[in-house]
Amino acid sequence: MIAPAPAALEQWRSLLGADAVTTDGVELDRAATATFATTQRIAALLRPGSVSELQACLRIAQQHRVPVHVVSTGLNWGLGSRVPPSDGCVVIELRRLDHIRHHDEALGTLTIEAGVTFRAAHEFLQRQGSNLWLPVIGGPPESSIVANTAERGDGEGPSGDRAAHVAALEVVLPDGELLHTGFDRFEGAATARLNRFGVGPSLDGLFMQSNLGIITAMTLHMVPRPAVYQGFSARVADFAGLARLLDALRELVAEGVVGGNCVTVWNAYKLLACAGRYPFVRMQDRTPFSMLDELGSEPWLCAGSLGAASAALGTAQRELVQLRLRAVVGDLQFFDADSPPPSHPDFVPGVPRPDNLRTAYWRKRFDPPASIDLDRDRCGVLWLCPSLPMRGGDVAEAMQEVRRIGLAAGFEPHVGMNPTSPRAVNLYISLMYDREVPGEDARALACHDALMACLIARGHLPYRLGIQSMQALPPDRGAHGRVVAAIKAAVDPAGILSPGRYVRKSN
Ligand SMILES: Cc1cc2nc3c(=O)[nH]c(=O)nc-3n(C[C@H](O)[C@H](O)[C@H](O)COP(=O)(O)OP(=O)(O)OC[C@H]3O[C@@H](n4cnc5c(N)ncnc54)[C@H](O)[C@@H]3O)c2cc1C
Repeated sequence: MIAPAPAALEQWRSLLGADAVTTDGVELDRAATATFATTQRIAALLRPGSVSELQACLRIAQQHRVPVHVVSTGLNWGLGSRVPPSDGCVVIELRRLDHIRHHDEALGTLTIEAGVTFRAAHEFLQRQGSNLWLPVIGGPPESSIVANTAERGDGEGPSGDRAAHVAALEVVLPDGELLHTGFDRFEGAATARLNRFGVGPSLDGLFMQSNLGIITAMTLHMVPRPAVYQGFSARVADFAGLARLLDALRELVAEGVVGGNCVTVWNAYKLLACAGRYPFVRMQDRTPFSMLDELGSEPWLCAGSLGAASAALGTAQRELVQLRLRAVVGDLQFFDADSPPPSHPDFVPGVPRPDNLRTAYWRKRFDPPASIDLDRDRCGVLWLCPSLPMRGGDVAEAMQEVRRIGLAAGFEPHVGMNPTSPRAVNLYISLMYDREVPGEDARALACHDALMACLIARGHLPYRLGIQSMQALPPDRGAHGRVVAAIKAAVDPAGILSPGRYVRKSN
């Protein structure tokens, strides 16, 4: 165990109460457990109950020069869970900051604190009889919307490119001072929650994927659920089909027929893992499972949603999707709430579901339990998040390499992708394994690193990092690193907040 300054602990205890300060070794070990091997130790766990308590916690950390790392709900599975990027930090968890501060149905806004989860926001909107569409994730419904946005996470739906649909960030700086972004910095500004940038330099981006401040609240911008909501699904047989499919989807997204973040493409392994676990019996315990070798094909699946304000518009959208996709895909199907697909029996947009988390039990020897906890169940999950040009050929070529490297190392890469615009597609590639198998942690990490190196060599840089990949980026060009370092030195001269987070050591 590693202990912070006793004087700091004493001050935190008298500030928060003993229950909100944990130094118990078992609990700290649990907090230091991710879905892959880590070595960072956690010195203590703090759970402030308000923004002013968080500010005071940081002042104490500054006074004693104790490094702190902040998580909101700490369910960053596949990217580090609650584990800080550096050894010896005190972890501050913001679950108790769980107020929904404001809701404006007409203007489509929801102002939430950092501990508000996808499930809590959904239930709140339901209780209000709201028609706003909350873009949900495939990840844990109990995870924080603010943290997901701070990581520039992706969700399903028209404002699913989350970081692009928020305003009025409330931020606690490393010295405990409060900062408001956009028009929210002015007392009484009528569009404080409504206008994204305000006037002058926009600071919002500084607090996403950084260690410059802690976002305690933000306003989400949402659109109403459409009057007519339809889904479509389709399948292609191979990489050549994938290339054609993505080119056709690019046209549909560019034309505005399908919204950005409103269509996803998965490989067959990801789909297979949703339906069940690894075929240990069929494979007589051998790994990996090459679907192409075993079953003769390895298809890709596409699922999208279409929202329209009227039936006539909905019909037109459907016809346009048919026109573009019919020539390139097999079994194009449309469905709606009256004829839902088996995967979505309640086909309603904006409902957080835990179904996708079952994929993390792919290589486990037991079925996913009712209460899913990937850290506790020692599910091995390593995520890579490359951003690629929305050109079918580029993506298909890179995915062939990913398949080759993954299977050669003994893992079936689970691949999903999400065109955020007609220009770029965000991919999420995960290696799912069983941490109980001796040597598997090291093999999976080596495979992760090889995949990352291969993608970066092709120019496909990651749009999001985990603690396993903070050092993976190539050196910066120009003054970027110097400017970020200067801002860090200005707001956190002692460097106490999340050392090593999104910082390349040798820049
Ligand atoms: C099967 C599976 C599916 C997934 N699907 C998705 C998906 O569809 N989309 C997606 O985006 N992710 C997905 N994830 C990844 C991850 O689980 C989610 O992104 C989740 O929302 C992150 O957990 P959290 O919200 O609890 O964040 P936390 O663990 O609380 O925080 C994550 C990181 O963000 C930073 N942070 C946290 N709070 C703040 C704050 N208040 N201010 C500033 N920085 C902060 C910290 O550095 C922290 O380490 C998936 C994971 C798995 C295993």
